Amino acid sequence: MKQTAILHRLFEESGRIATVVHMRPDGDAMGSGMAMLSFLTETLGKDAWLILPTDIPESLTFTVKPGLASRVLVFSKERSRAEEILRSADLIVCQDFPSFHRTEDMEGPLTASQAKKVLIDHHLNPDTASFDLVFSKTDISSASELLYWILMEMPEIGGDASKLPSACAASLLTGMTTDTNNFANSVYPSTLQMASELISAGVDRDGILTELYNSYRENRVRLMGYLLDRKLRITPEGMAYIILDEETKGRFGMQEGETEGFVNIPLSIKDVRLSGFFTEDREKGHFRVSLRSRRGTSANSIAEARFNGGGHELAAGGKVFMKDIPDAAGLEEYVRKVSVEFLK
Ligand code: 5GP
Ligand code: MN
Repeated sequence: MKQTAILHRLFEESGRIATVVHMRPDGDAMGSGMAMLSFLTETLGKDAWLILPTDIPESLTFTVKPGLASRVLVFSKERSRAEEILRSADLIVCQDFPSFHRTEDMEGPLTASQAKKVLIDHHLNPDTASFDLVFSKTDISSASELLYWILMEMPEIGGDASKLPSACAASLLTGMTTDTNNFANSVYPSTLQMASELISAGVDRDGILTELYNSYRENRVRLMGYLLDRKLRITPEGMAYIILDEETKGRFGMQEGETEGFVNIPLSIKDVRLSGFFTEDREKGHFRVSLRSRRGTSANSIAEARFNGGGHELAAGGKVFMKDIPDAAGLEEYVRKVSVEFLK
């Protein structure tokens, strides 16, 4: 039996279905999550829920479709309700992350749940043993694109994108757009085909682009200018890095998720092969790490080896714990060592 047919049977056999994405959700997490929620409730009429481990950044609140908002729960804010849904679900569909530890405090409840579990993901090294059914593909733009091709094979859709509910179609295009950085990376022929079919089906791409890239707060743009002018450093080996400290965050009133995309900019400099963006978070006791690399340098390997994280070959993330390296000066020294180690 085809994998998509098995998934369809799991949908049919399940009353309550929860879909889950990674902590600190990005556009692809919100896109694949909302698209799944929309398909399950609007096309299949299921009792479906989208559970986010942690809250949605302000910049992505537009991704929550009005008619579905009451079915979106944030685990860190409504823990007991979310736990009850995970416990009572017949099926849990995990999207845009390869293993439960990327869901922070939901790892325990997800492991404990008796529900059947499905993975739909595009990261390296999926934890296949934790799932009953796995859709894992790394040569694809995004979890949203992988979900698009899965939904195209559902009998209710039958390969016709115009049969997707409009919230589902818009969410899929949103998720693919952010993970490709608006068609700048990880774009495959299938990605362009998906975009073409969704736009033909009536998705308002211009509206999505306005929400994603032309709706920033003034301070976000000013912070970007400040960091590029004053804080960007480049090592002799070709690593660019920026450390955003608490003092600067406070001065610009930076909100969660607002520096999304900054890490890509230094990679546009000739001969820069690796870009790192480090955000100090004293409350959590770590620096958040975001890495991007050019082909030939593995952001994923460096994140795994030196920054307690992982991700994709050219885009990865992780953490530096303050118990190991307490301040920005120490982090800078560490980053320069990593640069010599991996780029020399
Ligand atoms: P970003 O730099 O946009 O936060 O993350 C880039 C990629 O790395 C994403 O695909 C994300 O899933 C992955 N990633 C980010 N942070 C972590 C982390 O702490 N651990 C792991 N394993 N992957 C991460
Ligand atoms: Mn993704």
